[in-house]
Amino acid sequence: MPELPEVEALAAYLRERAVGHAITRVDVAAIGVLKTYDPTPLSLHGAVITGATRHGKFLDLDVGGIHLVAHLARAGWLHYRDKLPPAPPKPGRGPIALRVHLDDESGFDLTEAGTKKSLAVYLVRDPNEVPGVARLGPDALAVSEAEFTERIRSHRGQIKGVLTDQTVIAGVGNAYSDEILHVAKLSPFAIASRLNDEEIARLYGALRSVESDAVERSIGQGSATLKAEKRSGLRVHARTGLPCPVCGDLVREVSFADRSLQYCPTCQTGGKPLADRRMSKLIR
Ligand SMILES: [Zn+2]
Repeated sequence: MPELPEVEALAAYLRERAVGHAITRVDVAAIGVLKTYDPTPLSLHGAVITGATRHGKFLDLDVGGIHLVAHLARAGWLHYRDKLPPAPPKPGRGPIALRVHLDDESGFDLTEAGTKKSLAVYLVRDPNEVPGVARLGPDALAVSEAEFTERIRSHRGQIKGVLTDQTVIAGVGNAYSDEILHVAKLSPFAIASRLNDEEIARLYGALRSVESDAVERSIGQGSATLKAEKRSGLRVHARTGLPCPVCGDLVREVSFADRSLQYCPTCQTGGKPLADRRMSKLIR
């Protein structure tokens, strides 16, 4: 799932490669991904791309005042191609949801690989017309330590959930929250409002270092190599059963909400593995 660093890198890539070019055609292959009806995709034809940016995990392409905003969700991706096939993709088949052709024959596909179609594309005159963008909290790369502390402290939930709540802090998802909590040496199940000053300071430092290191590694990667780059930099996320790079203990996994999280017991939970609620329910 693309998070802040990957979306930031995609925006940087589009700034370099697509800004200044006119859109010649937009093919909508999966009508369900388009969440707005005015302006229409047709209104982009002939318009010049003037900017590319990011709001949390949303990608925003400015096409002369009309914004194409995409939320890649869990299985969405942007594939840039130097030479796009001229024929439109077949509707309802394959992963391509939307294809954007540019005036130099290049362009990009927005794809959705999951069975649960969650890729969402919006065409709006102001990015804040997208409900998910309007609700975003301060960006993970911009939030001050004072504001971060206040926001985290005001939530009584488990820190893993609070950190990935986009209305609290924008940009942190499932993968990097595992990494941030590992660097901060905090249990993912710690209650946010009960973290002491020293723990919050550690968490803030970890947020900034994990996200900015990942951005640094991601920028300059094309859309084809970004995912592998992300995977290679992870310490605990998606590494169940592998040694923790800090202490050598085995990375464990526990269910959280509708998915799972990874952590190191020695570094984060005083050596005690967390009880898996899903499992203990079964045992009982
Ligand atoms: Zn460890």
